[in-house]
Amino acid sequence: MAQEQAQSYTIGVDLGGTNLRIAAYTRDAGLLETILLPTRLAAGRDAVVGDLCGAVSELKNRFSSQHKLAGIGVGTPGPLELPAGRLHNPPNLPGWDGFDLRCELEKKLQQGVIVESDANLAALAECVLGRGRTMGLDSLCMLTLGTGVGNGIILGGKIFDGAAGMAGEAGHATIYPDGLKCPCGNHGCLEMYASATAVVRTANQRIADGTAPALAGKSWSARTLAEAAFAGNADARQIYTDAGHALGIGLATLVNTLELPLYVVGGGLVQAWELLKPAIFEELHHRSYVYRLTEPHSPVAQHNPKGATHVLPAELGPDAGLLGACILPFAANGQD
Ligand SMILES: [Zn+2]
Repeated sequence: MAQEQAQSYTIGVDLGGTNLRIAAYTRDAGLLETILLPTRLAAGRDAVVGDLCGAVSELKNRFSSQHKLAGIGVGTPGPLELPAGRLHNPPNLPGWDGFDLRCELEKKLQQGVIVESDANLAALAECVLGRGRTMGLDSLCMLTLGTGVGNGIILGGKIFDGAAGMAGEAGHATIYPDGLKCPCGNHGCLEMYASATAVVRTANQRIADGTAPALAGKSWSARTLAEAAFAGNADARQIYTDAGHALGIGLATLVNTLELPLYVVGGGLVQAWELLKPAIFEELHHRSYVYRLTEPHSPVAQHNPKGATHVLPAELGPDAGLLGACILPFAANGQD
């Protein structure tokens, strides 16, 4: 039985606004093969679904003779309604509002699929294969700092979906009530201050209003801003410090609300973790007495290490969402 389980494989799909990645996976070997396609949004959602299902069929043809297919997991940008698997005006998939993604995929593939939001899947992967595994923990809350700020909550190895599938949207938690207007309709959301998009927007705005003279005359990306900050550019450092404050405020609320043992910060911007870190922990100390009471060197944590609150960078890189889609069928079957 154990051998049979070890040989079963899954197919995971990471449906992004730019790229479509489809992979076959076993627990022993990890990713067996990955197909990378552009997401042909301009060709319409039927074309994208056709590409996706074609790649799934290709992997099934290749691996089903050697392994038993344990399930298909699909990660998509949200908002996603569960269990229906229906999209609601996803900003990264324009024109997909009201699309019954799960039903359409199941109709085309002639079998069941499990659909989840991509940020939830990144959190699942970090829990099972990344920082959670390293720390020996099966519950965590993850923030993914990318184009926006994704969020996922894992409790006892399972994704916490909420009543309609939309739990884990702390990227749209209010940090500054009178802050910038967010596409979600709110003002001052975390993702307006702590995403890759946000740091670049802040840089451009400060260049325009003359408050970041050390950045003037250049075009910046989140990565080049981080490089400049690490090299000592004070204006670039300040931008990351400000992003760190926003993250710390958001994390303090999450810690006070959830008191989970682990909070993981991932996504492209986390390469600048050392720049974000001082402000994150300053805010955590200031705004969360739960954090102060349970941080790793606190008396509570010394007395009961399982009661400690850890806030750490993610271990998995850009494959986190895809890996999460691959392990989703195992997690859903209670095998992980
Ligand atoms: Zn928002």
